[in-house]
Amino acid sequence: MNAVAEVRGAVSAAKAAGKTVALVPTMGALHAGHAELIRAAKRHAGFVVVSIFVNPTQFGPHEDFGKYPRTLEADLTLATASGADWIFAPTVAELYPAGFASQVEVPALDRMLCGPRRPGHFRGVCTVVLKLLNIVQPHLAVFGAKDAQQCAVLKRMVRDLDVPVELRIEPTVREADGLALSSRNRYLSTADRSLASRIYQALQTVLHRVAAGKIDVARLQSGLLADLLTIPGAQVDYAEIVDAESLEPVNLLRRPALVAVAIVLGTTRLIDNVTVGG
Ligand code: AMP
Repeated sequence: MNAVAEVRGAVSAAKAAGKTVALVPTMGALHAGHAELIRAAKRHAGFVVVSIFVNPTQFGPHEDFGKYPRTLEADLTLATASGADWIFAPTVAELYPAGFASQVEVPALDRMLCGPRRPGHFRGVCTVVLKLLNIVQPHLAVFGAKDAQQCAVLKRMVRDLDVPVELRIEPTVREADGLALSSRNRYLSTADRSLASRIYQALQTVLHRVAAGKIDVARLQSGLLADLLTIPGAQVDYAEIVDAESLEPVNLLRRPALVAVAIVLGTTRLIDNVTVGG
């Protein structure tokens, strides 16, 4: 389960049997959002590998690597029940043996949104995802739209570096009140958990304004920020409307745009987004 050679062997056998192979990379602490990705993978592939790896290189020095939830037993149950055929849960030493020195980055997209607040984060993500793609060599890899910048960065990496894989992006799975499922939601206090639903309400308000014909991005963005600032105790890291592919600022909604926010509630940083226009 943990060794690179083992997962490679299992994938080779699946391919030799004519199966399509999908990879679903995760950091564990699996929830219904991950389960949807695994089910989506299973609809398109006969052999689904789920990787579970809390990747140290994508956490900043003051982030939550040490206390990130690790729930391997429950993860195995959920992943298997959702259709996983193989769980690849390597150790840090397996993926980063002594002498490891290479890094992959997409600086143009790293400068946007979460990039400046999380220096090195996307370099860590790109490097580990490229490693996982090279280890598993899947036909397709499945990611969640909740991490929109991650999706944009990985799409660009795959395109730029001619990585022979199809990326599939699945919609964000939400709680009944709209909060995007996240392994980090469990850090929220009861009070902050109930306030957190207002993040999605603010995003929905943007969708309604756009549906009503508003296309001036500066005004939509300032309305969004004003709504988010009414959440008691919330610190707004950013609330931006950007081009969905380049993540560059846009003035008018002519192409699909991403409405992306990052909010700190208590000590927990939450991200969410919706897509508009086009
Ligand atoms: P993580 O374990 O948080 O690194 O996430 C692993 C994968 O699950 C990433 O592709 C995420 O975008 C995706 N994911 C996380 N939360 C959700 C969600 N609420 N809905 C859909 N996909 C999600």
